Amino acid sequence: MISKETIEKILDAAQIVDVVGDFVALRRRGANYMACCPFHHEKTPSFSVSPSKGIFKCFGCGKAGNSVNFVMEHEQLGYVDALKFLGRKYSIEIADREETEQDAQNRLRSESLLAVTQFAQEFYTDSLWNTDQGVAVGLSYFKERGFDEALIKKFMLGWAPSGRDSLSKAALKAGYKKEFLIAAGLSIERDSDKELIDRFYDRVMFPVHSISGRAIAFGGRTLRADKTVAKYINSPETEIYIKSRTLYGIFFAKSSITKMQKCYLVEGYTDVLAFHKSGVENVVASSGTSLTTEQIRLIKRFAPEVTILYDGDEAGIKASLRGIDMLLEEGLRIKVVLFPDGEDPDSFARKNSPEVLKQFLQDNQEDFIAFKTRLLSAETKKDPIKRAQLIQEVVASIAVIPDAISRAVYIEECSTRLNISEEILSTEVKKLRKKRQYGAYSTEYTPAPEPGVPLYFPVLETGERLPEFITNTYCEPAERELLYYLIKFGEHPLYGADEENPASVTVSQFILTELSNDDLELQNLIYKNIFDEYYLVKEIGQQEIQKHFLNHRNQDFVNVVLDLLHKEHNLTIKQFVAEIPPEEHLLSTMVPKSILIYKAKITAIAYQNLCKDLSLAEKDKDSIRQNELMEQLQILMHIRNSFSKELKRLTI
Ligand code: ATP
Ligand code: MN
Repeated sequence: MISKETIEKILDAAQIVDVVGDFVALRRRGANYMACCPFHHEKTPSFSVSPSKGIFKCFGCGKAGNSVNFVMEHEQLGYVDALKFLGRKYSIEIADREETEQDAQNRLRSESLLAVTQFAQEFYTDSLWNTDQGVAVGLSYFKERGFDEALIKKFMLGWAPSGRDSLSKAALKAGYKKEFLIAAGLSIERDSDKELIDRFYDRVMFPVHSISGRAIAFGGRTLRADKTVAKYINSPETEIYIKSRTLYGIFFAKSSITKMQKCYLVEGYTDVLAFHKSGVENVVASSGTSLTTEQIRLIKRFAPEVTILYDGDEAGIKASLRGIDMLLEEGLRIKVVLFPDGEDPDSFARKNSPEVLKQFLQDNQEDFIAFKTRLLSAETKKDPIKRAQLIQEVVASIAVIPDAISRAVYIEECSTRLNISEEILSTEVKKLRKKRQYGAYSTEYTPAPEPGVPLYFPVLETGERLPEFITNTYCEPAERELLYYLIKFGEHPLYGADEENPASVTVSQFILTELSNDDLELQNLIYKNIFDEYYLVKEIGQQEIQKHFLNHRNQDFVNVVLDLLHKEHNLTIKQFVAEIPPEEHLLSTMVPKSILIYKAKITAIAYQNLCKDLSLAEKDKDSIRQNELMEQLQILMHIRNSFSKELKRLTI
């Protein structure tokens, strides 16, 4: 673990312009630098670097963060590795924090498990290429299946010999301990004589790699037709192989996922390999289990869109629909491709040329909600009860989408498709969302920070809300201030237009980008509804917007907006200056400042919650979780520091 002091040293040294400048040609524009974004394809620069804030932000793809985040993103590194990378650049020695004995033991233990797993992987690979049996049975099977040598080597496929204890013997001989062979799931102790036997024998082997490319587990496929032998055997869950956090193929897919900005999700090892063979590399498999939130977030680190590939088994598809709502809930765009009857992604890719495969994927992708609606409405016909169920199903999917604008678009689309009024759909969606929120209130609020995913800003679980008493007393004033700027000055340019910034962003654009980049939604329900509606009507102009809200059917809206418009000047500013310049001239300071104050408050709450989680993890002696939380805590502390620095800078 890297000490807090070292982290701060690195963060201080790693000036954003210097770090980004190593990879991207930056051009000065005013106080900032601009470039074409390295994370998505574009012709006109929308990637901006702010030396004073120490952050980069792309207005095109929304990626943003500090130097460390940039390196993580660009080099596809984890948080700690990115720090080490920067440490090397600035010759900062990374002294490991003094480890407690427990830390050291845990680290040694997982290192030992990783080492023995790597040994096994090398052993299986060696058996595949260099033993008679491996070549005759394993290698020839892979080749028959259409995998070429380069592919077999890339994925480090192997052969587990038919002897019952070949691996165990070899590993013990090489000095690996029995204890670790068992804990890594490679060997099993025979009850009768306490001798080790192999979990995998007489199988072709698919190693499972962690996101950083280390072998952590295996899947083994038998080549025997014997129905009493399980076709696939997999490693059990171990300390280094946590199934819910692993996706097969992620290590080989991550750079392609980033580049393509989408990820294909398939069922198993062979699908992933067949796609790679056809040149489609942005593909991962959930390997038998249904998808977990952690896996979804893993994908979300790299791309905002997932395409799920189904074979044509209708019953299977229906069973999985509910699970997919989970993806929507995480704010991912979901598409679906249905393969023809009797084909799965693997068989289709093998039968067709890479061009045909790519074209097929392109032509057959369908938006998930449209797909679900189509699939379910086929059977409802005129049965009114079934029809009502269908509507509930579709509404359930729309209601979990975190982004208000996307929800509105879906409501419109489904209204046409189902021939039902938008009003009804939208009322149903609102009802469900309310219910979900109250559901969240009633249980104790414990936000789960994203495991292993560093946060630019702390993010509340989308859809989850803090208990009202906290938000009302704590976040309410800051939220109110944001709303104030939105209602009063939303369509004003944030910076006065000048030669350097001819087309400045508007206040409303700025606020929306700031909040949505960090997945933040206003906590106060009325404010949030006004906020959402604002962006639906903003085309009509500032004055009309104010009228719109003042004449609103919803009396709550009227009251809030009335109150905001009666305020001459907002609250925080008066303390700072004697003579107050016209507010329009202060927007470029006041709006970012309000945002910062709001985020600082959210951060403070997240900080409290993180500390709570940490003490729980300590109690549970869950050291992996502790490490994750510590990592997040450090980021959070850094964010808090930069908030206070930035706030000082922003006084007028
Ligand atoms: P075949 O050559 O008969 O098509 P296959 O090896 O492609 O066999 P399928 O039965 O088609 O296997 O299954 C497709 C994918 O599903 C496999 O690649 C495998 O990764 C995954 N799979 C199937 N059964 C299991 C299992 N028990 N555990 C993990 N993954 C499995
Ligand atoms: Mn198959």
